[in-house]
Amino acid sequence: MSEFDYDLFVIGAGSGGVRAARTAAATGARVAVAEDRYLGGTCVNVGCVPKKLYSYAAHFHDAFEDSAGFGWNLPEAPRFDWATLRDNKIAEIQRLNGIYGRLLDGADVRLYNARAHVIDAHHIDVAGETVSADKILVATGGWPWVPDFPGNEHVVDSNQVFDLDTFPERFLVLGGGYIAVEFASIFNGLGSSTHLIYRGELFLRGFDREVREFTRDEMAKKGVQLHFETNIECIERAQSGLQVTLTNGEVIEVDAVLAATGRKPHLQSLGLDQLDIVLNDDGTLKVNEAYETSVPSILALGDVTGGPELTPVALEEAMHMVQHHFTDDPPRNLDYHNIATAVFCHPNIGTVGLSEEEAREVYGNIRVYSADFRPMKHTLSGSDERCLMKLIVDDASDRVIGAHMVGEEAGEVIQGIAIAVRAGLTKADFDVTVGIHPTGAEEFVTMRSVTRR
Ligand code: NDP
Repeated sequence: MSEFDYDLFVIGAGSGGVRAARTAAATGARVAVAEDRYLGGTCVNVGCVPKKLYSYAAHFHDAFEDSAGFGWNLPEAPRFDWATLRDNKIAEIQRLNGIYGRLLDGADVRLYNARAHVIDAHHIDVAGETVSADKILVATGGWPWVPDFPGNEHVVDSNQVFDLDTFPERFLVLGGGYIAVEFASIFNGLGSSTHLIYRGELFLRGFDREVREFTRDEMAKKGVQLHFETNIECIERAQSGLQVTLTNGEVIEVDAVLAATGRKPHLQSLGLDQLDIVLNDDGTLKVNEAYETSVPSILALGDVTGGPELTPVALEEAMHMVQHHFTDDPPRNLDYHNIATAVFCHPNIGTVGLSEEEAREVYGNIRVYSADFRPMKHTLSGSDERCLMKLIVDDASDRVIGAHMVGEEAGEVIQGIAIAVRAGLTKADFDVTVGIHPTGAEEFVTMRSVTRR
């Protein structure tokens, strides 16, 4: 019998924590989880899930407009009701919270609805008890961070934006990352007059340059007012809203400001600072390939460790962690290359592998194949939305080392392409694949002419 109350004590019931708890419990480990907020973490409650639901809502805007060319005559101009969307979203999230609770229950994982405090390498204070565990897993995720400027108390962050009391007819987003472009698209689609403020010359730093430029043009065409190379100087409450002064002197009045300026590890009051655990430069927990921190019985994974902040990555890390610590299987490290991702701005971005710029740096000689076209749907809809597809090929080996798309359902398309890129398939393999007609995705197997080298 183990000397500990639990084999694994997980702090944080988000995507990574819940998957780790369930998977470890399935190996016979005695597992507990502490969560002081909602089950399912950021993704389920204030991230991927509600964001995707709101993105669906915003897409109807275009769908209504597109329908006329196909013969639909709407009896009156569609009206959007924020409270219906918000409250239906709340009900759906509550349903998911319940499912997460039942999953833990069904896996025989004890749940503490409390914030845990780590006392030492094997002890935790939780809900008034001190419990011991062979391993402690910190999976507390991240928390939105807002820069310091006069009036920053008037902004909402990405935890709060989903549940605004009233719909912002005029909306402003600060930032140029995933959350900024997604929410600019969402509120623009829902009907807000929307501004995006980004300090750099072009948003989505790190993505393929052509993808960024194409997305900029498409978002601008849809009406998002983009302001680059500027920042918020201050925000003041005005009679009829919030007056936002930019560093370039421009003044914009809006009803709500979202700061989408990044996230920080959520480590407050966990007690880890007293254990001298080694941190990365950005304040996230430093871990090895077995997800051990510098105190080996204390493990960490997911956003709190500073890897790619993506739910599927946290899920994979959880399964690898369990394999390392709770099974006799030979350890297998997670390969962080070629992780596909989607940005749910409108139109969506889907991407896997290297950008053209990274590929040039790493491989030197590359071939770029790209197609920029008007999707078939828009021949009748009258919409001027275009689609970009792009393959980056290493010239020496012919391997496809990057695939990018901006267009409808780009994430759905790139998920399939990601398998080919990960498998190391060549452009010749893409070429011998017979396309599916008529789809947009068939472009990925029919692009024959090199756009540039
Ligand atoms: P990001 O780190 O992606 O972007 C933060 C943005 O804020 C950057 O554009 C950054 O500018 C800007 N910024 C940082 N500090 C300041 C400042 N002081 N003043 C003005 N601007 C500033 O964070 P997000 O909040 O957008 O998202 C967090 C993470 O969550 C993402 O990186 C992603 O991993 C994940 N996520 C994934 C989604 C998906 O899979 N679809 C959706 C949403 C989030 P600069 O570029 O110049 O540094």
